[in-house]
Amino acid sequence: EADKPIYPRILLKISGEALMGDQGYGLHPPTVARIAAEVKRVHELGVEICMVIGGGNIFRGIAGSAQGMERASADYMGMLATIMNALGMQSAMEGLGLHTRVISAIPMDQICEPYIRRRAVRHLEKKRICIFAAGTGNPYFTTDTAATLRAMEMNCGAIYKGTQVDGVYDCDPKTNPEAKHYSRISYDEVLARNLKVMDASAIALARDNGLPIIVFSLNHEGGLAAVLSGKGKFTIVE
Ligand code: UDP
Repeated sequence: EADKPIYPRILLKISGEALMGDQGYGLHPPTVARIAAEVKRVHELGVEICMVIGGGNIFRGIAGSAQGMERASADYMGMLATIMNALGMQSAMEGLGLHTRVISAIPMDQICEPYIRRRAVRHLEKKRICIFAAGTGNPYFTTDTAATLRAMEMNCGAIYKGTQVDGVYDCDPKTNPEAKHYSRISYDEVLARNLKVMDASAIALARDNGLPIIVFSLNHEGGLAAVLSGKGKFTIVE
């Protein structure tokens, strides 16, 4: 048997920037479609899938507040950006015949479902892909924290964090060819060395609840399916 997924239910976290292709801003439909196709492969293996998508390709609260906006308002703009990304991803997935629900931490019933935990669990049981949007619904948080929170609420076996590199290194592999790749690293070491995996509050929340974080590259075709069955190159934070 080629691919046997390790966990029956997972949460895939991608940053908003993963959707922008080389445009530098916003959504690049072919890139969104490519990621949707990666998710479809995994769905075909029978894995139940939660997704959290960031909003940094459109707006970040910190950037708004640095330009003089009130931080909380700027963060709400960031949360709205994640809704736009979620709708873009939903549309690409539906184009591939997948059944999806966008579920928002902030109710906006004309656009998507409000977050009701038991209802979301039911969608997963029915093999619908749940895209959790609007982060945690609170300013001063990030979508990394939202991903960790939803992964725990949905009883996911792990968070798969898709990035531009194939795991965690001791320094930036793009600028330093000597960078050392970790196949496994502890939460505490990630925090102590301030390695850029997810933000510190998300790492601490995952640690306190024993939720593994698997960091892998979104740039290889079939990469997600491989990593889900423990193949290919990745880092597990546990
Ligand atoms: N955000 C927030 N609360 C949350 C999640 C997100 O206020 O629970 C806002 C915050 O302003 C953040 C923006 O939404 O900058 C986009 O999310 P994030 O920066 O996590 O996106 P990513 O870096 O993953 O693209």
